[in-house]
Amino acid sequence: MYSESTPLSKVLGKREATKFRTARGITTVGDLLGYWPRRYQSPESNLAAARIGSYIVAVAEVKSATTRTMKARRGRMLQAVITDGSKDLEITFFSAHGHEGKLLPGTRALFAGKVSSFNNRLQLAHPGYSLLSDFDRGERRDLIPIYRAVGNLHTWTVTECVRMVLDLLDETPEAIPEPILDRRDLMDRTAALRGIHTPASTSEVDAARRRMSYEEAFVLQVALAQRRARQAQESTKARVPRPGGLLDAFDARLPFTLTDGQREIGETLAAEMARDVPMHRLLQGEVGSGKTVVALRAMLAAVDAGGQAALLAPTEVLAAQHHRSITAMLGDLAEGGMLGGSDIGTRVTLLTGSMPTASRRRAMLDIASGDAGIVIGTHALIQEHVSFQDLALVVVDEQHRFGVEQRDALRGKAAQPPHVLVMTATPIPRTVAMTVFGDMETSTLSELPAGRAPITTHVVPEGKPGWLQRTWVRVAEEVAQGRQAYVVCPRIGDDDEPDDDTEIFDADPSNGVDGGDDGDDGGPDEGDDGAGAPPRPLASVHRVHADLVANPALAGLRIEILHGRLAAEDKDAVMREFAAGDIDVLVSTTVIEVGVDVPNASVMVVMDADRFGVSQLHQLRGRVGRGGLPGLCLLVHAGAPDTPHERLDAVSATTDGFELSRIDLRQRREGDILGSSQHGVRSQLQFLHVLEDEDLIEAAREDAHGVVTDDPDLSAHPRLAALVSARVDAEQAAYLERG
Ligand code: ADP
Ligand code: MG
Repeated sequence: MYSESTPLSKVLGKREATKFRTARGITTVGDLLGYWPRRYQSPESNLAAARIGSYIVAVAEVKSATTRTMKARRGRMLQAVITDGSKDLEITFFSAHGHEGKLLPGTRALFAGKVSSFNNRLQLAHPGYSLLSDFDRGERRDLIPIYRAVGNLHTWTVTECVRMVLDLLDETPEAIPEPILDRRDLMDRTAALRGIHTPASTSEVDAARRRMSYEEAFVLQVALAQRRARQAQESTKARVPRPGGLLDAFDARLPFTLTDGQREIGETLAAEMARDVPMHRLLQGEVGSGKTVVALRAMLAAVDAGGQAALLAPTEVLAAQHHRSITAMLGDLAEGGMLGGSDIGTRVTLLTGSMPTASRRRAMLDIASGDAGIVIGTHALIQEHVSFQDLALVVVDEQHRFGVEQRDALRGKAAQPPHVLVMTATPIPRTVAMTVFGDMETSTLSELPAGRAPITTHVVPEGKPGWLQRTWVRVAEEVAQGRQAYVVCPRIGDDDEPDDDTEIFDADPSNGVDGGDDGDDGGPDEGDDGAGAPPRPLASVHRVHADLVANPALAGLRIEILHGRLAAEDKDAVMREFAAGDIDVLVSTTVIEVGVDVPNASVMVVMDADRFGVSQLHQLRGRVGRGGLPGLCLLVHAGAPDTPHERLDAVSATTDGFELSRIDLRQRREGDILGSSQHGVRSQLQFLHVLEDEDLIEAAREDAHGVVTDDPDLSAHPRLAALVSARVDAEQAAYLERG
């Protein structure tokens, strides 16, 4: 009678339907069935999790109940003790009315409420409850699903609504082909939905969950397989570089030897660009592994083959920095057509949104005429009316900030699809690569160039007397030896929100889809209030700059600031001066996070480091230790001095970027990393755990490939086709939202 697209208002009363919509964005039967229990509990489970301030949901039995009249107020109050057999908890209602007839000794019920304390004893004041005799519907269950509250609806009301839906749910259409269900031993969708919401056993939950995870992986992999299939159909111009060109000249003057990995990947790229099918390759590698050189060599090969190459950077600072360093690395090879330039040289042109009109116009002319062999820019390259003479290769730096759509938009600039090379800033686990970049082949630079100095990382708790000052003294010592330092802050000014570039880390992951084991079930309409008052406001660039300038330990040092709100030419000027060694200490936001390369910088201080993600800290740290000088990274946090800090300790314990990105992923909601929005309704990957479900993802990838090979348009799989296109639409919508 109901399908997953039936509006919830047809099933529930108007008031309840409205609550689901406003509190969790749930509007259809399918949305509600996608609202997964946060956990399950057995009817025997206990009250041991009760802590002051936590919101608990527990099954318990009423042990005693008394009512008494109050002196100060009219009416009678009900006081009861509930127990799970080993632990007791008091419950209190200031009006006994309506409760005393129900909460009789011996009654078992599901209780929910926020734990407080009264006379030194834990209690629940005015808990919500549902008698187990009502809840059970006569059939005793071993597992009770516990949902996050929806507005002021407690878990048992959600349970009731879900059951109403399930009772009248028709067989739901199947997205996974029958043979695959059999081969992979997966239950059908309807059974899985029942298994999730009304399971008889833990193993039923597991099987249901496995099936739902598989479906998510499968839909995603089918979308990717279709994309790969379309890409394989495309044809483009083969780019065969002439020998004796820019690339050879560049290699001949490289001041270092390429690592084996750099050379091998260079060969792979050259071979793929020489084919008439567009290359789609992901290049990942540890911070400092030399990805930029690899990309530059591919760009030179493209120019040697008569085409142009574009390098797309996520920020203006980074675009300008690439422009500077690539121009410097090329020397007179970058002075093509200029007096004194090399015969075989080309021109390297920068294009960003904030350039003055005149220079932008000049840049666009160079690009259109083909005089600029190498074009470096931000997404101004995509957005503006830029046309290329003959775009052969697109390199996208630090991809995780670009969407597939942006890649496509730039590809659209070429008469024939260009070859595409994507570089990620952070190494990512294999399954994530398969999930997020599944339409690309992957190359990994696994070794660091020889002679790379090690980076030492320390955690600095500000609460320890003298430690912060010791940090500044260390900075001064490095500067005295001719080196330079970065100081990174999470926001620009004291009145600002954390800086846009800072991915402020949500300290409380308890909103996660399956919640972890934090024991708090999240009360109705409650915010996160576990954090407590911060010891001081978050560090800002302006404040820290003022403090450092006034700090006697740093007297005479040249200390400057850099952040995203400075005018483009000021940013550029500051970076230039820092690169030239004219600034000793640069206080900045994370604008320097990715790709900035100043070999003389040896210290990185991160203020309020606990507000940054693991991978981000690793990126920041990668800015030092580049020039053969040992690097030092100091992670300052304002938390209590002696409590271990999991994330910061992890960063200081290892410099293995793959390991850190795994930790990072585990700590955040995977959905966020994958760029999907998380507003209560099924996020795109609700069940799938990208790290743990490696086997599932592999299986789904293989199956998806088979299905798409046999039926590229999915015409025999309507339900699957619908899910795939919904997914692609959602991605596009998310992309538009992000702007
Ligand atoms: P990534 O982008 O992978 O973090 P970069 O390409 O910025 O790394 O390279 C980091 C530094 O190492 C740069 O200064 C670069 O010139 C230098 N470098 C790159 N390859 C080598 C190599 N094979 N030997 C020595 N130094 C290298
Ligand atoms: Mg780089």
